[in-house]
Amino acid sequence: ANANGAPKPPPKAPGSPPLPRQNSKTTPPSPPKVISDKTGRMHFDRVGFLGEGGFARVYEVKDQRGARLACKVVTKASLKTKKAKTKAKIKIHRSLEHPNIVNFQECFEDNENVYMTLELCPSGSLMDMLRRRRRFTEPEARFFMVQLIGACHYMHTHQVIHRDLKLGNLFLDANMNVKVGDFGLAALIENPGERKKTICGTPNYIAPEVLFDTANGHSFEVDTWSVGVILYTLVVGRPPFQTKDVKAIYKRIRDNEYEFPTERVISSAAQHLIQQILTPNPSERPTLHEIVDHAFFTQGPVPSYIPTSAHDAPPDFK
Ligand code: ADP
Repeated sequence: ANANGAPKPPPKAPGSPPLPRQNSKTTPPSPPKVISDKTGRMHFDRVGFLGEGGFARVYEVKDQRGARLACKVVTKASLKTKKAKTKAKIKIHRSLEHPNIVNFQECFEDNENVYMTLELCPSGSLMDMLRRRRRFTEPEARFFMVQLIGACHYMHTHQVIHRDLKLGNLFLDANMNVKVGDFGLAALIENPGERKKTICGTPNYIAPEVLFDTANGHSFEVDTWSVGVILYTLVVGRPPFQTKDVKAIYKRIRDNEYEFPTERVISSAAQHLIQQILTPNPSERPTLHEIVDHAFFTQGPVPSYIPTSAHDAPPDFK
C-alpha cells in the first residue's frame, strides 16, 4: 500500500499486445479523383473538399467543360435502409427550380457511392457569415429574408415543406444571393389538408406543433415559424430559444419564452413582425404574403444587392 493506504495497482502482465483503437464512426475512403457514372458518360474531376453533414460529404468538382459544381457523396453502405427515403428527397429537390434554391443537377452512382451534383455555393452559409459578423443590419436582414421568403413561397406552391430552414442551410452564391439547400428533411404534401407526423427539424428552429401537437401533425406553417426564428437570429445574433440543453430549448419553445435584448435597438417593426410569426398556433401565423407586406419590409430600405465586403463587416448603404 502507498502513503494514502491505497493498494498498489497490480503490475501489468508482460507482453500483452495493445488493443487496436476502436472507432465507432469509420471514415469512408475518399471518392475517386475522377468521379464518373457506370456508363462513363459523365466525368467530374474532384478538386476540393467543401464540408460534411449528417450523412454526406460534399466535394468541389469540375465538369468536362471546366464548370465548378458541388458534389454530394453518400456511401451505398450508409444508404442500405434509407434508399427509398433518399430517392424521395432527391425527387423533391430535383423538381424545384428557383433562383434562391440550390440547383440540383445530376444524380448517378458507381459501385461504392451515390453522387449528386449541385450548384456550387462557394461563399459558405449565412451561419458562417453570422459567426464572423455576430449579427446583421436590418437592411441586410430584409434583403436575405425577401429571397428566403420567395424560395419558401415557391416550395409551398409546389407542395413542398422544407422542414429544416436554418442559417446553416441558407447558402450564398458569389453575388451574396441566398440559396436554400439541404432537402434531407423535406416533405411533399400529396393531398390537400394532409398533415405530417414525423418529429424532425433542428432544435432551435423547430415549430411548437411539431413537438407538442403530434396528434394533429404539422404542415407548411412550420417553415413560416423557422422564417421567424431566422429573422430573429439575423438581427439579434443568436436564436430566440437558445439555451444550454435541448430539453430546455423545447420547454422555452412550448412556453413561447424569448426576449429581445435591451442593450441594442431592434426596431419595433422587426420586433412586432417576429412576435407575429412566432405565434404558437400555426393557423394564426401570418402567411408569407402578409410577412412581406409588414411594415418591417415596406417602411425600411431593402438593398438591391449586398456587397461581398459584408462577409466581414457591416456594409454602408448610404
Ligand atoms: P447533409 O445533407 O449530410 O446534412 P449538407 O447539405 O449539410 O449535408 O452539406 C454538408 C456541408 O457541405 C455544408 O455544411 C457545406 O459546408 C457544404 N455544402 C453543401 N452543399 C454545398 C453547395 N451546394 N456548395 C458548397 N458547399 C456545400
